[in-house]
Amino acid sequence: MSNALITTDFDVRQSVSRDASGMELIPDTVARPRSRAELLQLLHEALRDRTPVTAAGGQTSTTAASLTDRGMLLSLREIGGIHDIDRASRSVRVGPGELLGPLKRTLAAEGWLLAPDPTSEEDCTIGGAIACNASGARSLRYGAIRSHVRGLTVALMNGDVLELRRPSLEKNTVGYAPVHDLVDWFVGSEGTLGIILEAELSLLPLPAWVIGISIPFPTEAAALAFVIAARESAVLAPRCLEFLDAGALDIARTSVQDPGWATSAQALIYTELAGSEADEPPLDAWLELAMAHAALDDDIRVYEGEAALRDARKLRHAVPATMHERAAPYRATGGRRISTDWAVPYRHLADALAASRRAVERRGLAQPVTFGHAGNGHPHQNFIARDSAELERITDAVGETLRDVIALGGTVAAEHGIGKIKSRWLPMQMSGTQRAMMRAIKHELDPHNLLAQGNIL
Ligand SMILES: Cc1cc2nc3c(=O)[nH]c(=O)nc-3n(C[C@H](O)[C@H](O)[C@H](O)COP(=O)(O)OP(=O)(O)OC[C@H]3O[C@@H](n4cnc5c(N)ncnc54)[C@H](O)[C@@H]3O)c2cc1C
Repeated sequence: MSNALITTDFDVRQSVSRDASGMELIPDTVARPRSRAELLQLLHEALRDRTPVTAAGGQTSTTAASLTDRGMLLSLREIGGIHDIDRASRSVRVGPGELLGPLKRTLAAEGWLLAPDPTSEEDCTIGGAIACNASGARSLRYGAIRSHVRGLTVALMNGDVLELRRPSLEKNTVGYAPVHDLVDWFVGSEGTLGIILEAELSLLPLPAWVIGISIPFPTEAAALAFVIAARESAVLAPRCLEFLDAGALDIARTSVQDPGWATSAQALIYTELAGSEADEPPLDAWLELAMAHAALDDDIRVYEGEAALRDARKLRHAVPATMHERAAPYRATGGRRISTDWAVPYRHLADALAASRRAVERRGLAQPVTFGHAGNGHPHQNFIARDSAELERITDAVGETLRDVIALGGTVAAEHGIGKIKSRWLPMQMSGTQRAMMRAIKHELDPHNLLAQGNIL
């Protein structure tokens, strides 16, 4: 390909060769189109030359989904822009390269909440978040980004541009349901079906107040029982229920001012409540439920106001950042951080964690640090492999856990997608027929298999 937008410069290629998976794949070329016309021209030439194309946004993927060593890495970062905030229909149209965090702040200044909140929001793009169906702590109340996408403009590999909107039909008996709403084909497709050029997203009014509460417990069992009770309560309405096990809590303690805080706790739950002017925060009901589950009442903390809530989130976010740092020295010996992403129906979380601990123990490995979205039955377990042999044993233990997760009605990947490093687990969850149907869709939209080779299938 001879397009002036394409570079083969080694430093540029290397600068896009890593994501958060620990893998390195250096593309043959890199292109950074600044407009839709430039992007379509690049796709046209790639199809003509049968050049594989992998889209990339912020490259925060944890699965090597935004990496490739085959063909062109197509960065969408330059195609941003907030095109339209429509107060009447409560929606916004944005370009794929827009970063989620700054976009959310712009919208908040106008009184709107864009609800999806992946921890990576300061660094991830709208296109990447949609392509991975990203979610976050508050997905407990608001759902993953899929439920906030009203429409998409997508470029197919053959240069066709599709303008897709969710159907507004209340009744429909035409054909097979999987083809009723094509927006859903592209959400979570990890760049394999088309390139997202624009998204129309739903907005909610900003809540009038938000209160955070962290509640330490003497045992993990008490904390997890509390999560089930809080989720099933008719009055509490949490917007997140985040869990930290003893190892995660040790890390979190180092990020707060008071080192003596919650030292006898073995687990912690962080929740957030939010409401309108007319709502009263049900603080007494929360404290009552916490005490009924033996919470360590002297160490319960309530966070009100921007700064306090930011500190509370830092407490939780300190855990993956610290684990990332702890793993860094082992890269040279083939080690890395391994972060699981499985989920089970929330009532089965304690069973799944027990199964995982047994699998880890059987292999004589150190137990992972576990934290995350307990309200959705979705923890992250972080292991550190010190070399490639340990990496293999950890992967084996994770595989055994995933078989138990599936038996409990769960999923092998709840928010980070499959990418390149989890495709081995796909057959555990999806039948041959389901995989064949996915291949048929892929073949229909990208018959030469040029888009995001190696992702998912
Ligand atoms: C510290 C950290 C915390 C994280 N926390 C969360 C979390 O809380 N929740 C969560 O869901 N994920 C989380 N992630 C994973 C990841 O950040 C998200 O999935 C994120 O949405 C990816 O966005 P991105 O712009 O970085 O995409 P990239 O990593 O660049 O790409 C991801 C995938 O999207 C495709 N893609 C990118 N742009 C487009 C486009 N315009 N059209 C078509 N395909 C495209 C790529 O080909 C790739 O398959 C985290 C990652 C890190 C490193």
